Amino acid sequence: MLHDATNAAIGRPFGRWAQVADHDWLDWRWQLRNRLTSPADLAEVLGLDAADQQFVASGAAFEVGITPYFASLCRAGDPLCPLRRQVVPDRAEAVSRTFERQDPLGEDPHRRAPGLVHKYPDRVLLLITDRCAAYCRYCTRARWVAGDLERLGEDELNVAIDYIARTPQIRDVLISGGDPLLWSSARLRRLLDRLDGIAHLRWVRIGTRVPVFVPMRIDAELVEALRPRRLPVYLNVHCNHHAELTPQAVAALGLLADAGIPLGGQSVLLRGVNDDITTLRETWYAMLGARVRPYYLFHCDPITGSSHLRTSVSEGLELMRQAVGFTSGMAVPKYCIDLEGAGKIPLWPEYVQQFDREWISGISYAGEPWRYVNRLDPP
Ligand code: SF4
Repeated sequence: MLHDATNAAIGRPFGRWAQVADHDWLDWRWQLRNRLTSPADLAEVLGLDAADQQFVASGAAFEVGITPYFASLCRAGDPLCPLRRQVVPDRAEAVSRTFERQDPLGEDPHRRAPGLVHKYPDRVLLLITDRCAAYCRYCTRARWVAGDLERLGEDELNVAIDYIARTPQIRDVLISGGDPLLWSSARLRRLLDRLDGIAHLRWVRIGTRVPVFVPMRIDAELVEALRPRRLPVYLNVHCNHHAELTPQAVAALGLLADAGIPLGGQSVLLRGVNDDITTLRETWYAMLGARVRPYYLFHCDPITGSSHLRTSVSEGLELMRQAVGFTSGMAVPKYCIDLEGAGKIPLWPEYVQQFDREWISGISYAGEPWRYVNRLDPP
């Protein structure tokens, strides 16, 4: 039975799961065990059409997996549904452009150990799992995620932690993947305790999409494992559309915020998902309402097969021009492109037109000319 999105706002059992007991539906492991993965699953529940079924069946598509909870938020059979577009495969993924790359951020040459990327002098990326609760069609690490390309066991983790411990210029560790919150709470706690013991580290960040894909994972045990110790733990939540912030997701984020874990929001600008100012603004407002500070809006990386989901950079800049000044600065993240060699480049609408020793001048967000003194002692 196709899902018709009548339950979309709150994510509850529907279709083949209509009779599922609450204790199963609210169990994150049940959600993972019952993910939609096959063309038949996707056709039955989310109305995948025959050509897209064939594409998935051919084995050419990036990993497919959608939790029943997230599926319950999608409109079946509607390729314009902004949530469905993010997780349901599309045969357009088979189209690759000359400028697209498997490793658009150039991470692979900076691998120092399995799962450890040291690209910038003062920070490292620690990829502790290649599994996610659900799989995004535009994933920057699609070349690696769910690919079983590296063993990431305790021995490999020891090598990575040893490298961090003997590299004093590392100030922070970004734990990512895959999704780190799929680890057991006990294992995460042990990892954070070990990092806490490395004196030159100043903070730890964790990147996750779990509060959006399977909010029932955020339980008391996990919150306890993430609680700040000497090192503060910052959680960056990947959220692209306000409809992802259901009451369940907001409650899960509230548990984390109540425990003193600072929450930042990261979104990817995606065609047909959030590439209009009304959606973006509402998404940032919904984040702030959930105590998540909008932090980055990433331009969609040129990952192989993602052009149908990407906007132009000039469209992104125009959206920022419509946001800056027209809404609270708290609600406006940095818009960035991420380059293979040069890292993140923040892009901001241009407000300065002239700059000399005495004065700086330009046009305000509202289109009005302005002038401001530059020197402390203008003539
Ligand atoms: S949750 Fe993150 S790592 Fe996983 S598929 Fe989505 S973008 Fe990729």
